[in-house]
Amino acid sequence: MQPYLILFLGAPGAGKGTQSSLLAEKLQFPRIETSKLLEERFKKAQPGEQIEIDGTKYLLEEQKERWRTGLLVEVPVVVRVVGEHLQKLYREGESVVLDGFPRTNEQMKRLLPTVLEAFGKKRILVLYIDIEEETAVFRNSHRRICELMRHPILYLPETKGLSLCPFDGSKLATRELDEPEVIKKRLRVFHEETLPLLDYFKDQGIAVYTIGGEGSVADVFESITEAITQAMQT
Ligand SMILES: [Zn+2]
Repeated sequence: MQPYLILFLGAPGAGKGTQSSLLAEKLQFPRIETSKLLEERFKKAQPGEQIEIDGTKYLLEEQKERWRTGLLVEVPVVVRVVGEHLQKLYREGESVVLDGFPRTNEQMKRLLPTVLEAFGKKRILVLYIDIEEETAVFRNSHRRICELMRHPILYLPETKGLSLCPFDGSKLATRELDEPEVIKKRLRVFHEETLPLLDYFKDQGIAVYTIGGEGSVADVFESITEAITQAMQT
C-alpha cells in the first residue's frame, strides 16, 4: 500500500488527540503529535540554542515561551520539526496520522511541496472534527493529563474523582495550556488562523471530511472510521 497522510483539524477540545490516537491504533499507522514533538525538542534545547532556517536564526527559548503561552510557534520552526519526521516516515513506507498540524495556511503552504511530492494529493486525507465553542471551553477546562506519560484523561462521571492515572499510577495534572485565559487565546487563534485552512485544502484539491464531534468518543470514532474506509476505497 502507498502511504497515506491523515490530518486532523478541529478546535481545542474537539477530540483530535483522542480520535487520532484511536485511528492510528486501529490502522497501525504511526502518529505524530505536534505539540509533543515540539515539547520534546524544547526540553532538549540548550540555553541560548538556536536553529538556522533559510539564513534566519531562531532562539529555541523564545519559541518555547510562545508555545507555553498559547501563541503559535514560528512557522519555519514547526515546519522544520514536523517535516523532518514526515519525510523520515514516508521513506520508511509508513502512513502517518498527524495531530495538531498544520494550523495555518502559512504553515501548510510551506509544508505542501514536501507532502505533495511524497504522499500525493489523493493520499492526503483531512478530517475536520466540528464542535461548538461552549463544548471546546468545557472540555479544555476539565481536561487532565498524567505526569508520567501525558495520558489524556477525559472528563466523565467515571473519571472525575480520579487523582492518579489508571494506566500507570502517576499524578494527574491540569496543563498550563488549559488555563481559562490560555484557552480563550487558543480558540481565537483557531478561528482566525486554522479554520481558513479548510478552504485552502479544498482549493488544492485535497479531500476534507467534516465529522460531527459533539457525540461520545465511540460515536465520533465510528464516523471517522466510515469516512476513512470510504476514502481509501476510492
Ligand atoms: Zn498515565
